[in-house]
Amino acid sequence: MRTLRSYLKDQWVEGAAPSATLHDATTGEAIAEASTRGLDFGAALAHARSVGGPALRAMTFAERGAMLKAMADVIHANREALIDVSRHGGTTRSDAKFDIDGASATLSWYAYLGKTLGEQTILLDGKQEKVLRSARFVSQHVHLPRHGAAIHINAFNFPAWGTAEKAAAALLAGVPVVTKPATATSALTESIVALWVDAGVLPAGALSLICGSAGDLLDHVGPQDCLAFTGGSETARRIRGHEAVIANNVRVNIEADSLNAWVVGPGVDLGSDTFQMFVNQLVRDLTQKCGQKCTAVRRVLIPEALADGAVEALVDRLSAVVVGDPAVKGTEIGPAATASQQQSVRDGIGQLSEHCQQVWQAEAVPEGGYYVTPSLFRSDRGVDTPFVHEHEVFGPVCTVLTWDGSASGAIEMVAAGGGGLVCSVYSDDKSWGGEVVMGLAPWHGRVHWGSRKVHDQSPGPGTVLPNLVHGGPGKAGGGEELGGIRGLHFYMQRTAIQADRGLLEKTFGKPAE
Ligand code: NAP
Repeated sequence: MRTLRSYLKDQWVEGAAPSATLHDATTGEAIAEASTRGLDFGAALAHARSVGGPALRAMTFAERGAMLKAMADVIHANREALIDVSRHGGTTRSDAKFDIDGASATLSWYAYLGKTLGEQTILLDGKQEKVLRSARFVSQHVHLPRHGAAIHINAFNFPAWGTAEKAAAALLAGVPVVTKPATATSALTESIVALWVDAGVLPAGALSLICGSAGDLLDHVGPQDCLAFTGGSETARRIRGHEAVIANNVRVNIEADSLNAWVVGPGVDLGSDTFQMFVNQLVRDLTQKCGQKCTAVRRVLIPEALADGAVEALVDRLSAVVVGDPAVKGTEIGPAATASQQQSVRDGIGQLSEHCQQVWQAEAVPEGGYYVTPSLFRSDRGVDTPFVHEHEVFGPVCTVLTWDGSASGAIEMVAAGGGGLVCSVYSDDKSWGGEVVMGLAPWHGRVHWGSRKVHDQSPGPGTVLPNLVHGGPGKAGGGEELGGIRGLHFYMQRTAIQADRGLLEKTFGKPAE
């Protein structure tokens, strides 16, 4: 059985027994073990800050961008081998590519951003402004990389992309990364980091990896560190409330549970391109990665007048979905990633069955492994339906909710989820659609508006893109990642410098006109 290692202080290290065991999701077989027991996280963070930080800050954005490009190229060159490792997490080939290609694409996108930022090492924020009346004594806001470490704690579902998307923004900002994937799927992250280390694409101290429990990591955080977390809301609460995090006012970004909702407008014809777009995107979202995506749809709002026909069309399409061994060509839904995720999805299906009507469930779900039963539910109780607006069932499961088709009713029902990562609206009616999009935007980090003219042009709401922000208010964690250059600001300190105009320009450069 493979023993996963951590990479701390530029060395591969193993923790002491007892270790956590990682299992193959399709067979349940033990495949690897990982432990961080006895590892010195305090020294690891100090090394990142004192060795990796200065090395990255000395590089220009163009140089950091070239480093990210080299990281992307390493992943791409080893794509097939990484897809094989990913399989242990229960992914189909297409799921594995979504994670692994998503990692290299995001790194490449940030590499290009680095190239365009060029020879600078810091960012200017806006133009010089007068402080009072003097034209000589002025101010300039600047973003400088913080002198701490970027601590990244990730969820089990995207061991490649989750690692890369957070690392891309931090490294381009000039801040060293200490990354901790979820233990259950960390074999893929370990493989990627090993490839980067072997290829020598990063300066010393710029990247550390923790495979296994976070242990006492958070006891060692300092005032210049930034902590970005993706995972469950319970863990998020513990992290945000950690004594050292509070005492040092560590900057924290949280991506947590999200009850993403899609809304079909009352004017949508069931034979239209807009409706087909909705159906195609829903089937993709429900099947991809066994529904274990933070952006996956959990609630679908359909006007009462359209509901029977729309549900029939959905059931018709979903009935053709193939659930099975992810290694077999043609399989669309593999197992959940872990035994605990399987249990949690089964519990969620049990709860939904108590409050909603199950209108479809996949047949022929294999025995063994961590398979769950993909399901579609329906409730005509709208906002009053228990459970569905409060709990995210993190699997291939969603619920159709009917309502009167009013814009205000749609906004009220979606908002009952408490804030989400992404919402999708399907409508060609600019007045109704516009009102709903405006009403839903404050509750989300991203709103996707599907309509006839773009029905074949959108990757769907489930795809997170590096140039658009990812995160959402309230239940979704209140965080924000990516969004191009916006993603760098979390790792940088914005400071207002007040000084003589000439001295300012000599030190920080002249803002572009
Ligand atoms: P989780 O149990 O919250 O774990 C997430 C990460 O936090 C893992 O790396 C975990 O490490 C680590 N962790 C756990 N306890 C910690 C602590 N006390 N201090 C520091 N780190 C700690 O989440 P998960 O099992 O990966 O996913 C569970 C749920 O998260 C899902 O069911 C879903 O609802 C939500 N989720 C949300 C998003 C999003 O982007 N919004 C994405 C994925 C998942 P170990 O693995 O070593 O325990």
